Amino acid sequence: MMSIIIPAYNEEENIENTAGVIGDIMRENDIPCEMIFVDDGSKDTSWEIIDRLSKKDDSDGVKIRGLKFSRNFGKEGAIFAGLEACKGDCAVVIDCDLQHPPQLMVEMYNLWLQGWQVVEAVKASRGKEGFIYKTFAKTFYRLMKNSADANLDRASDYKLMDRKVIDALNDMPERLTFFRALSSWVGFRSEKIEFDV
Ligand code: UDP
Ligand code: MG
Repeated sequence: MMSIIIPAYNEEENIENTAGVIGDIMRENDIPCEMIFVDDGSKDTSWEIIDRLSKKDDSDGVKIRGLKFSRNFGKEGAIFAGLEACKGDCAVVIDCDLQHPPQLMVEMYNLWLQGWQVVEAVKASRGKEGFIYKTFAKTFYRLMKNSADANLDRASDYKLMDRKVIDALNDMPERLTFFRALSSWVGFRSEKIEFDV
């Protein structure tokens, strides 16, 4: 069973569609899964939607679960809460707005079946970003590379992890972390695939 962790902050316009699209892909490809929407203190009706969806019949192999934060803690917190709650043999982290193409999860899952323990989706292009955003992002990733030896320029949070990797991350004492960096820092057999934002 694969867990799909979806951090959600004020995503009332996306949640139901995203759950539907991902559910269809999983059913078509016979991948049993649980989707875990982590409501990161949304101020809109996100939680009501997650709560309603989580009551749907899951005999089709697609289960929907929800976690709700007491306030907004930020995406990193939502990801790690999802990693702690998930029960899958592997887990994928994916954005709620479908900016990470969900069809790619099938390829990630197949690579996992072949024995890869981390499958990272890296950006083939960084999508449309303004000059200032791009410059700050570049500077940040250069600092990370120089200080922590982590090459993250094209990295994203869209990745699959084997249960061993999830357990290793959950066992770490760090609490305020940068998922993108930590998940490659722990090691394991990794493969990369490209996507367009
Ligand atoms: N998100 C979150 N907490 C926040 C901000 C964002 O859980 O405080 C979620 C958001 O709902 C989405 C993902 O993190 O699923 C990425 O957020 P967003 O699309 O705003 O970021 P970007 O597209 O700029 O990477
Ligand atoms: Mg987005």
